[in-house]
Amino acid sequence: MTHVAFAPAAAPVSIPAIPVRELLPWVIFAGLILLLAIYFVGAEEGATSIVKGMYVHEFVHDGRHLLGFPCH
Ligand SMILES: [Zn+2]
Repeated sequence: MTHVAFAPAAAPVSIPAIPVRELLPWVIFAGLILLLAIYFVGAEEGATSIVKGMYVHEFVHDGRHLLGFPCH
């Protein structure tokens, strides 16, 4: 026979604080990725285009309208 006991005796887990010095490079990296995403969604068209053709524009077209960037 097995003995099953309910024992919620687990101590609460404390999450250690992350120092800003370790967090800052990731924040900068995420900011650059975000700026790149905003560029591709908002400005990758016409004179500001760096990718030839309309592939990027068409790929992010719904996001462009969703975020309110002028389009057509
Ligand atoms: Zn459009």
